[in-house]
Amino acid sequence: MAKTIGIVTSGGDAPGMNAAIRAVTRVGHSMGLQVVGFERGWDGLLSNCCKKLTPRNVGGIIQLGGTMLHTLRCPAFEQPGGTETGAETLRINDVDGLVVIGGDGSFRGALELGKKSDTLMVGVPATIDNDVYGTDETIGFDTAVNTAVNIIDKIRDTAISHERVFIVEVMGRKRGFLALEVGMCVGAEVILIPENPMRTEDICTIMDDNARKGKRAGIIVAAEGFGDSSKLAQEMQRQTEFEVRLSIVGYAQRGGSPTARSRLLASLFAERAVELICEGKGNMAVGLQKGAITSFDLEKSATNKKVLDLRLLKVAEMLAI
Ligand code: ADP
Repeated sequence: MAKTIGIVTSGGDAPGMNAAIRAVTRVGHSMGLQVVGFERGWDGLLSNCCKKLTPRNVGGIIQLGGTMLHTLRCPAFEQPGGTETGAETLRINDVDGLVVIGGDGSFRGALELGKKSDTLMVGVPATIDNDVYGTDETIGFDTAVNTAVNIIDKIRDTAISHERVFIVEVMGRKRGFLALEVGMCVGAEVILIPENPMRTEDICTIMDDNARKGKRAGIIVAAEGFGDSSKLAQEMQRQTEFEVRLSIVGYAQRGGSPTARSRLLASLFAERAVELICEGKGNMAVGLQKGAITSFDLEKSATNKKVLDLRLLKVAEMLAI
């Protein structure tokens, strides 16, 4: 009997998850494996909801955002008995290796599931937050950066016309990877990230200094994890001479057609993930380190916090004079 690999997409969706499903399926079939996809994240393992994936039924999805397997956050999987049920589902379906496409939370789920199951677990990092330890970049990050940059470029036009300051809130959950890169790319006057707390007075001082330098408009990019953007906008309106507006980019960042880079990472990560399973290696994750596709310990990835390089913030500050 040919070996079987399973695929699950879990946690927040990210553009490029479909490209990863396609690549795992096609690489798997190229290597003579059967492939099944579990639906709606870990819930599919609790309810044994899965479908056969073939090279043909994953056609036409490389350019689509979202995930054809659907995804969700599944608190029940973390409850007592959750991972045991998941392990039983893997056993019933004779799944030899499971490719878990998701963020750090999904990796923790894979780690716990791996403790209850003989199935080899391999994590493929996919999240717009780029906060997975062990990889310089996750699938979907580049797309989300580009989506936010395109939107903020438009906001900049109206900011200049009306001589206003816009606080633009971007996603990233508790981390500032997305905000930092977006802020750099839109030439933000200030970038607010949880890793670098700033007082409202200091933000106002920067904007007042800018006004004195002749900057009559401005863009402040704020990570959602920085704090209450609405309150900040109100405070800045009171404390500065600027008209201040808040714009929340929101869920548009999670959707849309993946960029070429997100598709490329998805395809290359997927190939390495299937290769690991064929080599009999589990409890692993794949990623990008210094430009090379690599693999590393799943537990290390799931239990460590990725460090954000604050030197980038210094560069952004120099560019915002
Ligand atoms: P992401 O993968 O995008 O970081 P979450 O942090 O929401 O998303 O995690 C996705 C899912 O992974 C959770 O809803 C839960 O089902 C599962 N999970 C997270 N941590 C654990 C854990 N310690 N044990 C079992 N399942 C977990």
